[in-house]
Amino acid sequence: MELEQVMYPDQEELQLLTVGVREQCDLCPARAQFGVFLNNGPLTFCAHHYNENEQALTKAGAVVKMILH
Ligand SMILES: [Zn+2]
Repeated sequence: MELEQVMYPDQEELQLLTVGVREQCDLCPARAQFGVFLNNGPLTFCAHHYNENEQALTKAGAVVKMILH
């Protein structure tokens, strides 16, 4: 029997989630669901705008984290 693996954010991840992350999408008034971390700082996106920009962000080497509210 295999135990279900539970993922806990590590220290670095917790910092990313709490430092500079706003509750609101950067592009519209919707609630942010993704924190996107680039060299020049964090961006926040709702699911809609994240999906819209996902390819460009991935290309730019962004690190994406779910935002825990
Ligand atoms: Zn949005």
